[in-house]
Amino acid sequence: MLAINSVINMPSTIVKKRRLNRLICRKCKARNPPEADKCRKCGSKQLRMKSKERRGIS
Ligand SMILES: [Zn+2]
Repeated sequence: MLAINSVINMPSTIVKKRRLNRLICRKCKARNPPEADKCRKCGSKQLRMKSKERRGIS
């Protein structure tokens, strides 16, 4: 409805979404949500961030 239009017109919302980190499993390379503490596929806790860290931006 009205709320949907305002979301589409706000590029900052998209940027925020794209900046979300993804956790990649070191064992099976499955993508996990950033809040995951272990792989949803193989259960391994060896997850690494896919996106870059904040250093270098500021
Ligand atoms: Zn895994």
